[in-house]
Amino acid sequence: MPELIKGLETVKAIRAANALRMQALQAKGITPCLAVVRVGERADDIAYETGAAKNCKNAGVRFTAVVLPQTADTQTLVQTVRTLSEDASISGIMVLRPLPKTVDEQRVMEAIDPDKDVDGATRANQAGVYAGVKDSFAPCTAEAVVRLLKYNGIAIAGREAVVIGRSPVVGRPLAMLMLKENATVTVCHTKTADLEAVCRRADLLLVAAGQRAMVDDRFIRPGAGVVDVGIHVDEDGKLCGDVAKTVQQPAWVTPVPGGVGGVTSALLIEHVLRAAERKL
Ligand code: NAD
Repeated sequence: MPELIKGLETVKAIRAANALRMQALQAKGITPCLAVVRVGERADDIAYETGAAKNCKNAGVRFTAVVLPQTADTQTLVQTVRTLSEDASISGIMVLRPLPKTVDEQRVMEAIDPDKDVDGATRANQAGVYAGVKDSFAPCTAEAVVRLLKYNGIAIAGREAVVIGRSPVVGRPLAMLMLKENATVTVCHTKTADLEAVCRRADLLLVAAGQRAMVDDRFIRPGAGVVDVGIHVDEDGKLCGDVAKTVQQPAWVTPVPGGVGGVTSALLIEHVLRAAERKL
């Protein structure tokens, strides 16, 4: 059986560092605030918003949700986000995606002040991540994978990392962050020829395909490490990932739940605190 590399210890370390940053901010009279913008009533958006509100409360960060109807147009959203960007009491802004298809999502993202863009959605932060600029905000999920690896002492430099997925939220920025850590990176997607063979080259297989249990032992070289970014709900209502629970080949795998997800949440708070520090 592969070893399970859980996220909990990484989460504890990030939370402890967050608590110190929070104390320093409060000593200067600052209470950071995260604003989440939600359009419509999608169950997963509401679940995300509830989780973010709880995380903020536990960290002592203020939280506000701006909820717009499903019919909201691009201009309304741009104006809403601009108002939050200009509001000195708001430290970080996150717009829940995907937005309705009728909305120009990138225009809305570009209305976020890059200094408040805590989930790395603006072109400015994307460019920063691609250029390896230290202070840029990377999307929390992509950064969570690297932090999980580093906290657990897993070597990255010089190793073959294969990322399944090229979305702007996870796969692409993750590939860039792994490159920054000196991995040799391959990015796979739906048009990759012989995906299994490419994945079997990996020392570190990072799976963000959004396909439940698609990765099984055929994709994994014996002794490789596997990070499962996927989040799905199975027929019994239980959370599961993109990697089959039955895999035997890897030396280790991150579980779902209990792996990347918690680290992502802790990092969102870290980013809000970093954003608040920038305003000092
Ligand atoms: P997405 O659907 O936007 O992108 C999926 C990517 O995987 C695409 O680039 C696609 O080309 C590739 N892909 C899909 N099927 C494939 C296949 N059969 N073979 C090869 N490539 C394939 O999804 P996303 O937003 O990047 O999220 C990926 C997963 O991560 C989802 O399961 C999502 O729920 C999860 N997620 C987790 C967290 C977290 O905190 N753990 C946060 C965000 C997303």
